[in-house]
Amino acid sequence: MKIKTRFAPSPTGYLHIGSVRTALYSWLFACKKKGKFVLRVEDSDSERSTKLAIEAIIESMNWLNLSWDEGPYFQTKRLNRYNMIINDMLHKKIAYKCYCSKERLRNLRKLQIAQGKKPKYDGFCKNNYEHHTNDEPYVVRFSNPQTGSIVFNDLIRGSIEFKNKEMDDLIIRRTDGSYTYNFCVVVDDFDMKITHVIRGEDHINNTPRQINILKAIGAPVPYYAHVSMILGNDGKKLSKRHGAVGIMQYRDDGFLPEALINYLIRLGWSYGDQEIFSIEEMKKKFNIKAINKSASIFDIKKLLWFNQYYINKLPAEYIANNLIWHLNNQGIDTKNGPLLIDLVKILSKRCKTLKEMAANCCYFYNDFIEFDKNIAKKYLCSATQTLHKMRQKLISLNEWTPDSLNLIIKKTADELKISMENICMQLRVAVTGISSSPAINITIYTLGKLRSLAHIEQALNFINCHSSKEFTKY
Ligand code: GLU
Ligand code: ZN
Repeated sequence: MKIKTRFAPSPTGYLHIGSVRTALYSWLFACKKKGKFVLRVEDSDSERSTKLAIEAIIESMNWLNLSWDEGPYFQTKRLNRYNMIINDMLHKKIAYKCYCSKERLRNLRKLQIAQGKKPKYDGFCKNNYEHHTNDEPYVVRFSNPQTGSIVFNDLIRGSIEFKNKEMDDLIIRRTDGSYTYNFCVVVDDFDMKITHVIRGEDHINNTPRQINILKAIGAPVPYYAHVSMILGNDGKKLSKRHGAVGIMQYRDDGFLPEALINYLIRLGWSYGDQEIFSIEEMKKKFNIKAINKSASIFDIKKLLWFNQYYINKLPAEYIANNLIWHLNNQGIDTKNGPLLIDLVKILSKRCKTLKEMAANCCYFYNDFIEFDKNIAKKYLCSATQTLHKMRQKLISLNEWTPDSLNLIIKKTADELKISMENICMQLRVAVTGISSSPAINITIYTLGKLRSLAHIEQALNFINCHSSKEFTKY
C-alpha cells in the first residue's frame, strides 16, 4: 500500500502548536513509510477563513521545513466536485433533501429534551420530499444507517465504537449551497487517496460519521490516529491565556525550527528516554503506536533547553545566518564590526534564544550613547584610573590576543591593587555599556582595538560629565 497522509488545517486563525505537532507526526509518518504528504487548506467555511491565515500556514510549514508532496489543495476550488458527489448521493438515495423549517426543528428539539431524549433530527423528510416546489429552500442530509455500529481501530487509542442510532442524518449541504466540514473531509480524503488520517482528538466524534459517508459512497476507509491535546501547566487547554501564540511567533522570539521540531516530537511521543533527535533519526524511529494517549503539558523551559542545545550544536555559520534576521530586526548593521560567526561562538553558551543573542551583539556593532544609571553608579564612578591605565596599555599592545589582553588586565589590577572581579566589571561596563558579557578579555579581543578604545574614551567622557556628586543622585 502506498502510504499517504495529510495535514488539513482550517485557515481561521493562527497556526498553533498543537496543529503543528499533528502536521509533524503526519509528515514523519509519510517520510518514514516513503509515502506522500498532502497539504490541504480546509477553507470551506468562507466566513471564518482568511487570506492571512492561509499565508501563515504556508509560511510556518516552510519555516519548519515540513515540505509537502502535493497541494496545497483548497476546498473552495473543489465545489464542482462536491456538487457532483451530492447529486450522485441524492440519486442513489443515500442522501435526501430536507425542507424542515427552523421552527419545526426547534419544536422537535424542545420535545425531545422534554422527553429526556438526546436531541436528534427525526428523519422526517427522508420520504416526504416530493411535496415541495423547486424554489423552496432545503438542505441535503446524509442518510445515516440507523442500526448496527461503527467500530474503528484508532492507531493510538485502540478500538472505538459508536452506535449508529446515536447519530442523526447529518446536513452535508446547507441551504445557501455551502458544504459542511464532515462532507468535504470525506470527499477530499477519498479523492486524495489518503491512507492515514492523523489529527487532533477533537475529531474523534466526527470519525464514525465520516466512515459512514465513506462507506456509502464506496470509498475506502483510511486508518485513523487521534492525537491528544496540548495543555498549559494548569491542566487547561493551551490558549492565549498561557501565552500560546501562532507558530511564527516562536521564530520572532528567537527559536530555531530544529529546536521546535525536536521539542514537539518529544511532546507526546517517546523512544526510550532519548531526547535529541535529528530529522533523519526521527524519520527512522517515529512510530504512531508510541504516541502518548494522554494529554501533554506545554513547558516553555524545556523548549528553551532544546533551543540552547541546538544553538550550540548546529554549525556556527548556520546560526549566524539565522541571527542576521534578528539583528536586522533590531536595526543592527553587521558590516562594520566583528564577523558574526565569531560572535556566535562566544555567545552561544550564554544565550537561550537568537533574540537574546542579537541583543547581546549590539555593542559589538553599535556605539551606545547612554549607560544604565544604576550600573554606571556601581561600576563607573570609581573606574577613572582603571580606564586611563588600560587605555595606555591597549594603545601600546602589539599582540592582540585574548591571552595578552588577560595579562594587561591582571597587571592593571595589580598596579591599582584592585580585585580581578572589580576591574573586569569596570571594563565590561565601559566597553559594553551593560553588566554582562562573555569573559572580558574575549569581549575586548572581539570588539577590536579601535572600538574598545573608542568605548573607553566614551566612558571616560561620561564620568567627566557626571561628577561623583551627580553619581550619588542616581
Ligand atoms: N480542518 C480540521 C481542523 O483544522 C482538520 C480536519 C481533519 O484533519 O480531518 O481541525
Ligand atoms: Zn426535514
